[in-house]
Amino acid sequence: MEILRRLASPRQACSHVPSALPAPAADRCEECGSDFNLRMCATCGHVGCCESQAGDARRHALTEGHPVIVSMPVGGGFTWCYEERAYVG
Ligand SMILES: [Zn+2]
Ligand SMILES: [Zn+2]
Ligand SMILES: [Zn+2]
Repeated sequence: MEILRRLASPRQACSHVPSALPAPAADRCEECGSDFNLRMCATCGHVGCCESQAGDARRHALTEGHPVIVSMPVGGGFTWCYEERAYVG
């Protein structure tokens, strides 16, 4: 499975990243209210905290099936795909 995925698509070409990012739905974690080290869901704009806190961004990604998160502020950091388990884009 993993080998097939690598053959089918180069590491940097993540098919899960939408062509246009949504606007962040909040300025803090929508679950616990944290206002630092936030991640935005690239699919729907959900805002959640990172895994050194309550891990709400990760929980959202896995439960909603929205695999790609971007660090906030958007455009200043990284993009991570939970499907590839890699930095993408
Ligand atoms: Zn991906
Ligand atoms: Zn949180
Ligand atoms: Zn989402």
